[in-house]
Amino acid sequence: MPDSLRRDLRGSAEEIRALLEDLQRLGIDEIDLPPIPADLPPCPLNVVAAEDGGEILCRRETLEEIRAELEGCRRCALCTERRNIVFGVGNPRAQIVFVGEAPGREEDEKGEPFVGEAGRLLDRILFAMGLRREDVYICNVEKCRPPGNRDPLTEEIEACEPYLKRQLAAIRPSLIVALGRFAAQTLLRDTTPITRLRGKWRQYEGIALMPTYHPAYLLRNPASKKEVWEDMKAVMRRLREQEGKGI
Ligand code: SF4
Repeated sequence: MPDSLRRDLRGSAEEIRALLEDLQRLGIDEIDLPPIPADLPPCPLNVVAAEDGGEILCRRETLEEIRAELEGCRRCALCTERRNIVFGVGNPRAQIVFVGEAPGREEDEKGEPFVGEAGRLLDRILFAMGLRREDVYICNVEKCRPPGNRDPLTEEIEACEPYLKRQLAAIRPSLIVALGRFAAQTLLRDTTPITRLRGKWRQYEGIALMPTYHPAYLLRNPASKKEVWEDMKAVMRRLREQEGKGI
């Protein structure tokens, strides 16, 4: 069975259990649920293989647990100059996750992604989509600022990417928007230039992913805002279609 399908099935099972537990709280007591072990371990990617080749029972990891583990991270050299780890903000059950590249100076100071000029442009894009920051989840591939806002190095991306994978597994959104080259190429494992990746639907672990330009690029190339708006209209169409199908 593919990993993505296995994760979807386990996610559905969790949702059914939550629904049944709600019914029990409402006094509908003829449903007999097996007890949930109090010490059920968190599972980083939802399913972990046991040594005997089967699966161990585990619950979906929370964003708080991932954030706690990130505290004081020294997995790559970016830890030496950062002021704050920039984990991510927004709705932990968001249908759309926006993934950017790495924190800049203002993000590093405030510990929050997309709070500088590019972030204000992202807010305007969200507003045009009928969304607010708190409706979506926003994070970066890299959680610490590269000095002088240089591009992240391959080894830094490799060190930090597991946290992003775990964030996406914890949120399990309907759609991902990859903002810019680093987010798109990292998530898709594809070195095609962003100019050719953008605007075309792809898949990340069974989740629809739309690559588009980074807002910082749009500040330097305002003519490309039109293309990003086309991409965001496609995102909203897809979201409506998925909602219509109950996905
Ligand atoms: S960039 Fe990521 S891996 Fe590197 S120190 Fe920061 S949190 Fe850790």
